[in-house]
Amino acid sequence: MNLIDCHTHTQFSMDSEADIIQMIERAKELNLSAYAVTDHCECSTWYPKEHYHNTELFDYFNYKDDFEASVSALTELKKKYSGFNLICGIEMGQPLADIDIAEKIASDPRLDFIIASLHQIDGEKDFYYINYYHMTTKEINNLLERYFNGIYKMCRWGKFDILGHLTYCLRYMKIRNSITPNLKIFDEIIAESLRTLAQNGKGIEINTSGIRQGFGTTFPSLKYIRLFKELGGEIISIGSDAHKVSDIGANISDGISLAKLAGFDKICYFRKHQPNFIKI
Ligand SMILES: [Zn+2]
Ligand SMILES: [Zn+2]
Repeated sequence: MNLIDCHTHTQFSMDSEADIIQMIERAKELNLSAYAVTDHCECSTWYPKEHYHNTELFDYFNYKDDFEASVSALTELKKKYSGFNLICGIEMGQPLADIDIAEKIASDPRLDFIIASLHQIDGEKDFYYINYYHMTTKEINNLLERYFNGIYKMCRWGKFDILGHLTYCLRYMKIRNSITPNLKIFDEIIAESLRTLAQNGKGIEINTSGIRQGFGTTFPSLKYIRLFKELGGEIISIGSDAHKVSDIGANISDGISLAKLAGFDKICYFRKHQPNFIKI
């Protein structure tokens, strides 16, 4: 089986200490057909702390420096590992929080691949830091409505290759607080988002981190991967979201099985924003 891993973090992400060389060496050892490093770059806190007013909403600033460190290291490493399919990517968070920055990143000629993610609704805390325990069903649904509206707006903007980990906000609700909301009431806006991506030749990722972290399924689950296919989607990327060497490639074969079950016969990696398909 041709395995790929197109969502991983290294020492240039604030939440990872993984040595970038060790990550690449591990990806080579696993004989991955494509390996993308996609360090974090949150457009909502691109500048140093002094630039912002509502600083209590954020835990980390100055992604500008992390972006430059990651992308310049990868540009050099691509030369060193020219016989290996190493991809210079980025996980762009909250592009609509600062469209000028997002467009500047999107037009950086060194990037092969952009995952767009929503970790934080505009003006609110990162999903990671929200305490869901005392929230009523109505409050949870309101939060999810703001999340899916944000996803839809991001899909309409569309200056990226792949939508990252759709439904990721469910991770902390379930793992920490055993809350499993029913997403059925959001099916329409989710379908609208997926249709927009399909029509514009964009893809979604199957993010396998939920399997190893005890969530139980990928982000998104089979239901929405299938819906993307039904709506004309053709581009599927797969990533482990590894933040350490030992997680590279984790559950990728499960992700490929889900892609097949959803009706896809190929997955995809990007070079210079062009999709390259691999039969599965
Ligand atoms: Zn993410
Ligand atoms: Zn990530």
